[in-house]
Amino acid sequence: MYEPGWCRAGEAFEKDFAQPRGLSLKACHIGEDAHRELAAFARRACGRDCLVISDANTRKAGGEDVVESLAAQGKRVREHVFGPEPLDGTEELAQEVKGLASEADFIVVVGSGTLCDLAKYAGDALERPVLLYPTAASMNGYTSGIVALKVRGLKRTISCEPALGVFADPVHAASAPQRMTAAGVGDFLSKCSSTTDWQASHILLDAPFNPKARKFSDGIQDRVLEHAEDIGRSEPEAVALVLEALFLSGFSMVVAGSSSPASGGEHLISHYIDMKSALYDLPHDLHGAQVGVATIYCLGLWQSILEIEPARVDVDALVARQPSDAEVREWIEQDWGPVASEVQAEWDKKKMDPDRLRKHLETFAAALPRMREELAEDLLPAAVVRDAIRASGGPVAPEDLHAPLEEYKNGQRRGRYIRSRFTVLDLAQDLDIS
Ligand SMILES: [Zn+2]
Repeated sequence: MYEPGWCRAGEAFEKDFAQPRGLSLKACHIGEDAHRELAAFARRACGRDCLVISDANTRKAGGEDVVESLAAQGKRVREHVFGPEPLDGTEELAQEVKGLASEADFIVVVGSGTLCDLAKYAGDALERPVLLYPTAASMNGYTSGIVALKVRGLKRTISCEPALGVFADPVHAASAPQRMTAAGVGDFLSKCSSTTDWQASHILLDAPFNPKARKFSDGIQDRVLEHAEDIGRSEPEAVALVLEALFLSGFSMVVAGSSSPASGGEHLISHYIDMKSALYDLPHDLHGAQVGVATIYCLGLWQSILEIEPARVDVDALVARQPSDAEVREWIEQDWGPVASEVQAEWDKKKMDPDRLRKHLETFAAALPRMREELAEDLLPAAVVRDAIRASGGPVAPEDLHAPLEEYKNGQRRGRYIRSRFTVLDLAQDLDIS
């Protein structure tokens, strides 16, 4: 399925994107020789002093190999090893990492999502290159120019310089907990609903849409679906597919210049849970686990929406049943207390008054035949995504998430208010579909 040292993600990116545009991400490699490739790349592209960041678990799952290879290439390596307990990706911790790296010429991270985000943020602030050695195929942020950090208790996505290189050993990634790899499958497959949201916002609201962003996933989605059971058995060749799919998904966001191709209504439900968790100290699950369950829901919404007969869209009745501004304000107050004004500001950017909503629904009814045709390119039946996540060992029902069921359900209804981006959650509620 994959040959060591070969990565279509790297090839596609080099040929079609990185070189012509002079982007900062210069290397992308998946193979059992990843630690040697990383060090050889560092010899060519980076200075002498290097800070290697890992944690007690990832130090063993690849960290030792990386440090040894860097030293063999003549690098002066300093290490910082965090404890084994999960890290909280806060701005304060990112500042701490920045302090640790201030003397280094470049930063190398051996770890999964949170560690990589902390280092990308620090590298961006210090204007130092960052090389990533992901130890889990759990999320699509490794190759993106975005980090997710908690700032004053609220989870934010912050733009930053992408890493200079990403190098992953599928054998190490396959030894991560199975739930993490399954979360990666969920995060990758969420594009079926998020890209649909993005394109629908283009059709209905004339938002910018770049079809090139989806071309990176050509073929890889079918291979992930086909090998879901191998992924569930942690076979390194199959985990390599998940890594590649996630790297390509990260590229799609770089190409789009926003997270739109990989973050729609399903991500709002997950962000809703994460924000509640940060604010009220509640449990939450892995990003991709929450996103995967929410993707199954959002694909179901799309299915129902596209089955509507245009002649049956009763615009007057739908406009009349929308909640009032005062009602929405009250929900936002209830949900977000100390940060309600920030959430309200997001909602105010996209809320429609009755006249605008009437026109929007009329546009929708007229555009339905076009939407059925054009949105089919990205949509998958909810059952296909559910079966793939289940086969890869991930949760497929809200009850199976390690997060409060009530907050998941609130996220389905009220996730639309937390971000100004148009998603299927908006359209479904405007059309009274749940
Ligand atoms: Zn995601």
